[in-house]
Amino acid sequence: MLIIGAMNSPKESLAGQISLFGEMGFDFVEITIEAPGATPEKIMAGKKEIHDALHSYNFGVLSHFPWYFSVAHPYPRVQKAIVEEFCLAFDAAAMLGAKKATVHTEFLPSGIQDRQVHIARTIETVKKLHKEASDRGLALLVENYSASSFSIKDFKLLFEEVDAGMTLDVGHASMDGGEGVEGYLEAFRKKIAHVHLHDNDRKADQHLPIGAGKIDMRNAIRRLKSFYDGTITLEVHSQDKDLLKFSKDKLEILWFGKKKFLENKEYALPK
Ligand SMILES: [Zn+2]
Repeated sequence: MLIIGAMNSPKESLAGQISLFGEMGFDFVEITIEAPGATPEKIMAGKKEIHDALHSYNFGVLSHFPWYFSVAHPYPRVQKAIVEEFCLAFDAAAMLGAKKATVHTEFLPSGIQDRQVHIARTIETVKKLHKEASDRGLALLVENYSASSFSIKDFKLLFEEVDAGMTLDVGHASMDGGEGVEGYLEAFRKKIAHVHLHDNDRKADQHLPIGAGKIDMRNAIRRLKSFYDGTITLEVHSQDKDLLKFSKDKLEILWFGKKKFLENKEYALPK
């Protein structure tokens, strides 16, 4: 079943955004546990309010971690500290009832260390994170960014060594240096356990509303739908939240067809 979620901005109140997504008819929230407003400490301190908001919309929870947390940092002591921060964030995610935890491949330019070292360090850190996440009942998913960060070939190596899943980010796969959505869909059918959807001009990572960029969404959804039927988070980072709601309608139309979309609306909002 297609399940559509939205992601909080760590700069705004988490409970407030959960209510907003609930009113818009989303099925779940992907909580990014991230500074400044959604650190593990702040989530722990506000847990009653967050749980109340989640319960009032019967929301499922997925978790997401800062894209700028290194997984292949050239300084081992810095990497160790980052893994500790990941663990605190995993604790907060488990407390919220999350089952999936999405982490990113390295954001630092791969050229600062030998490519082989960059890949080996990524695999080593993901192994550790996979163990820490599993111990807390979280399925670890690794999200694609660009080929220079971690390519399709590198992901294949990773999955040979670690039993982690993948979060396919359609926007990242489509941007300059992203290797294309088709390549990922071909290679990781069995590994894709969650999807991020947003649009861009096929150059920069813009997180635009669906239809506002140049990604062939119809084709991407058709290919995805041929084997995938699970959670999709609309990672639309527009100031105007109506564009998030618009993106949800767009996705449902692309997925179910216009006729079914309108029928579903009638069912959801009986006269
Ligand atoms: Zn993403």
